[in-house]
Amino acid sequence: MAYALLNVRIYDYDNYEENGYIVFSDKIIDKGKMSDYLNKGYEEFDLMGKLVIPGFVCGHTHLYSTFARGMSFDFNPNNFVDILKQLWWKVDHFLDKDLIYYSSLIGGLNQMSFGTTTLIDHHASGEISGSLKLVKSALVNRLGLRCVTAFETSDRFDVDEAIKENIAGFNLKEKFLANSLFGMHASLSLSDKSLAKISKVLGDKGIHIHVAESVMDEDECLEKYGMRVVQRLEKFNLLNERSILVHCTHINEEEMDIIKKYDSTIAVNVTSNLNNAVGISQIKRFLDKGIRVISGNDGLIPSQAVEYMNIFYLSHLKESSPIGFSFSDLKKIIRNTYDYANSLLGTKLGIIEKDCEADLLVIDFNNLTPVDEFNIFSHLFYGVFPGLRPNWVIARGKIKFKDYNEFEDYSLDKKEGIIQAKRLWTRINEGGKDVKFKY
Ligand SMILES: [Zn+2]
Repeated sequence: MAYALLNVRIYDYDNYEENGYIVFSDKIIDKGKMSDYLNKGYEEFDLMGKLVIPGFVCGHTHLYSTFARGMSFDFNPNNFVDILKQLWWKVDHFLDKDLIYYSSLIGGLNQMSFGTTTLIDHHASGEISGSLKLVKSALVNRLGLRCVTAFETSDRFDVDEAIKENIAGFNLKEKFLANSLFGMHASLSLSDKSLAKISKVLGDKGIHIHVAESVMDEDECLEKYGMRVVQRLEKFNLLNERSILVHCTHINEEEMDIIKKYDSTIAVNVTSNLNNAVGISQIKRFLDKGIRVISGNDGLIPSQAVEYMNIFYLSHLKESSPIGFSFSDLKKIIRNTYDYANSLLGTKLGIIEKDCEADLLVIDFNNLTPVDEFNIFSHLFYGVFPGLRPNWVIARGKIKFKDYNEFEDYSLDKKEGIIQAKRLWTRINEGGKDVKFKY
């Protein structure tokens, strides 16, 4: 079945069409001006001036954190590592197979409702073996999305088992749908022995690791190893053009040069950095150095639109200038996020042209002032991104949300999600105090 979206405004961050059409099945079959449209037996939808943009890619998320929302627990952190020990490491410690599957499914569904159709996930769970297959199964098979998986290798887990799970992750690769990276938690939770083991098996795969999220990561690295975090990763031959270094809040110029040298990617997650009070990354500096910067949400909020807004506003604050970070800078990050996902999945996401992926968002759009190809991004940023919930979400050519409602029925999954979340909270409240973490 092919669908035709008629009388739509179409914008893919490069090109704008004021009154156009899009025909798609799993990929875009045709796109053009309404005056050139011919019905060749398509199911038609007259969308009367609504805006169509590409589905979002989330460049770094933690679906395992989904069931932490609303949880009551003892939380009194003095620093960043306390946040990990008191919250996140307890949540992931108690995830068994059902919890892994349902946290991925419910978290993925939540992000999809805000327009994200591809997720680069960084997974951790007490149950290690087989976990990435469950993440993929929830996202790709049940929800019909696309994903890149990774298991957060860390010295608090059985490192050999975590390495094995990452290797198993690479076998989950499926063109256009799924791929993997080699997951590592952070320098501060990985010994030299662990890094050497990973280096031995990595080959040409990319790593996915938190870097200098808090200054504690750098301080500890300097104290224990006499070098900075990115230097340590370079020492163990862990950097290449596929690697994602997440946050990089406290890296210095020399570390930026190393990242640039290996053509690695920085995934920024500014809302999470605000929440954890760890600092603001030098995003403008990264871009000016020619480093590929992509955007993720760190599992904190489900909306990429909000992340894009926060990158823009936070970067003005960081640069102490209302023009210190431009729309061109932000569009570069949005484009990079699509391109990076495309390089791993073999897709053409983020482009609304013939033969590109039919991952599309249909958005109610009332332009308060004149709109054209030169100012459409301004309309999108100021008028659409705040509070964006897409009217329609289309992923892999299937209509997932229509008129703000689920077009496919996930009511049983959501019911089970509530049961599983309660079960996780009970497990944490009953056993959380006795869990001790070494790193
Ligand atoms: Zn993260």
